[in-house]
Amino acid sequence: MEIVLRKVGKTPLLFEKNLDNLKIKGFLQFDSGKLLKLEAKLSGFVNCTCDRCGKEFTKDVDEELDLFVSDGMLQDKDSSYIDVVEAFDGKFNLDDFIRSEEQLIKDGYNYCMECVDSDFEYEI
Ligand SMILES: [Zn+2]
Repeated sequence: MEIVLRKVGKTPLLFEKNLDNLKIKGFLQFDSGKLLKLEAKLSGFVNCTCDRCGKEFTKDVDEELDLFVSDGMLQDKDSSYIDVVEAFDGKFNLDDFIRSEEQLIKDGYNYCMECVDSDFEYEI
C-alpha cells in the first residue's frame, strides 16, 4: 500500500494496514516544507530469536510511533527532526515501513520468557 505524499494536506489522512503478524493504524498530516507528521500504533507480534539461548519465540508488539516522513532527501537544516523516514518518488510505502519497523525490533535485544525469568532469579 502506497500513500501519495502530495495528496496529504492539513486534514489527517487515516490509514490502516495489516502485514503478516503486524498491524499499523494511524494518520499522516502535512507539517511544513517536505515534512509530514506520522502518528500511528503498531501492534501484533514479531517472530524473534532469543539472544541468550537461541530459541525462537514470538514477541508482542504494542508501540506508539511518532515521527516525520520526508518527501525526498532531507537537507541539513532540517536535521533537528530526529525521527525522520525519507520517502522517495513522492510515495510512502506502508508495507516497507512496517517491514523496517519489524526489522528494528528483531535487531534489538530480545530475550525469551525463560531467559527473562532466569535474569530475574540472578538478581535476587
Ligand atoms: Zn532464551
